[in-house]
Amino acid sequence: MVRGKTLFDFIDPKEFRFVHVCSSCGHPHFSKGEERKDSCLNCSGSKYDMVPFFNPAEDYALDADYYAITMMYALWKQNVHKNKVVYDDFYRKPPFVRGVGDYRGELGGYVAFGGLGHLISMLDHLYFNEQDIEYLRQQPEAFDEAFLDELRTMRFSGDLYSIEEGNLVFPHTPTLRIEAPVWECIWIEAMLLNTINSESLLLTKGSRLVTVTGGDVLLEMGKRRAQGRDSSVYGAKMAYIAGFDATSNVKAGKAFDLPITGTMAHVYIMFHESEYEAFKSYADTFPEKVILLLDTTNTLESGLPNAIRIAKDMEQRGQRLVAVRLDSGDLAYLSKKVRNRLDEEGLHYVKISATNDLDEATIASLKQQGAQIDIWGVGTKFITAYDHPALGGVHKIVARSPFQHEEKGDGESYKQDDWISLIKISESIDKVLNPGRKKVYRLYDHNHMAKGDYICLAHESLEGKEEIVLKHPTNPLKSKVIRHFTFEELHKKIFENGGLVYTQPDLPQIRNYHQSSKATFWEEYLRLEVPEVYPVALSDELRELKEQMIAGNKQ
Ligand SMILES: [Zn+2]
Repeated sequence: MVRGKTLFDFIDPKEFRFVHVCSSCGHPHFSKGEERKDSCLNCSGSKYDMVPFFNPAEDYALDADYYAITMMYALWKQNVHKNKVVYDDFYRKPPFVRGVGDYRGELGGYVAFGGLGHLISMLDHLYFNEQDIEYLRQQPEAFDEAFLDELRTMRFSGDLYSIEEGNLVFPHTPTLRIEAPVWECIWIEAMLLNTINSESLLLTKGSRLVTVTGGDVLLEMGKRRAQGRDSSVYGAKMAYIAGFDATSNVKAGKAFDLPITGTMAHVYIMFHESEYEAFKSYADTFPEKVILLLDTTNTLESGLPNAIRIAKDMEQRGQRLVAVRLDSGDLAYLSKKVRNRLDEEGLHYVKISATNDLDEATIASLKQQGAQIDIWGVGTKFITAYDHPALGGVHKIVARSPFQHEEKGDGESYKQDDWISLIKISESIDKVLNPGRKKVYRLYDHNHMAKGDYICLAHESLEGKEEIVLKHPTNPLKSKVIRHFTFEELHKKIFENGGLVYTQPDLPQIRNYHQSSKATFWEEYLRLEVPEVYPVALSDELRELKEQMIAGNKQ
């Protein structure tokens, strides 16, 4: 085996689905089909034990809710499963945002869009393996063998358009647009929402923490409290995109090439005969990166004096203590005391780090109290999105291609560019879907600050327009006229006919992109409490289509 490679770098389980293991000598042969006629390459034997072959690290086909499979089957039975449809993904309410006091106005807020990289790799390796098919075969629905056989060759074959990972999105703005056979859109729903909702939620949480800490060092340390293994790893990835400086999660560090960091735990100090001994042995081992934990016995009476002694010892050897860490007590009071003492000793360069259930609100409050903290370690409250643990993004059908009997000019349907727009009417007006195949523009002023998002039908264009009226989606009294603007179409083509056509940026690029996207928004839209509502408006044509369809539905 070549170092650093695995079997899956040489053999693609999408193509080679079986291993024929020679019954006499055990030699494996990778095969495309269930039959193997050739004799064993090793011993010329001709009997084999056959096992399905797939890469368990890329096993996504059953990342679905069961109704997806049953609907796929029912569509297959009617032979309409390959009819093309358009799906939009969007959310209705931004997370974490709170009003203050008795504030009852409309709340703003944003989502930092995350999970696209993960989604791309899943869609690119999406296939039913033989064990998946066997599992479905055992279900009481007794799926037709011909259906199961068609699943074998099923892949994502559609077009996917997406906002780029790290950009900011607002309620009702489609983050993704998918054009694919209907059964594929249904198949991927749960997997897609699971990925985009969870990673966008954590990217947003991380982004808010970065807003609060400003230029301070921010560390992700949530591994032990995350809701499972995957979320700890992908959470660390989102923290990095958000602008965190490093993670304590070694697995995430390896998987995504993130900077990893760590200090020491109480166990290291308790194990030694004295706190000083513990500090000294650690400083001797890692003279370049020592951060000493002060609160094992008493922060100000014991931890701090011992740390100062170590710092002085280190100075004798031409070394510098990097930081001390506070992990309990009143962080505002202790950090000021510790800063004073360090400064009195001429140790201005020693930084102070703090951990202990920190969140955006506690950090904001500590800063407001003048806490002298340079390095923030955030764990539980970040990785679990503690104050708003779910993002309600949805995946909805908005158009379909005509059925055969509709092909020839049917005046009744809401036809747009050969697609029939669809709408679902709910009781509340803000829950009614925006129908049709759409695209999204973001408008900027002459300083490249974002003015609003403009959702229109796919055939519309802003090219050559001098003035735009952004109308509030549900309140006709609110509108904003925009002149002298530039614009950007937010959706990029990611997959075309199932093939990946998008050049994926690396993580440092996504991180920079998040920062520069965020910088195009005024603080009013980004602030943590009672943020201003960012304008997201529909084009007149889209609005008229929607109104017509609502009226048509009520008849
Ligand atoms: Zn053999």
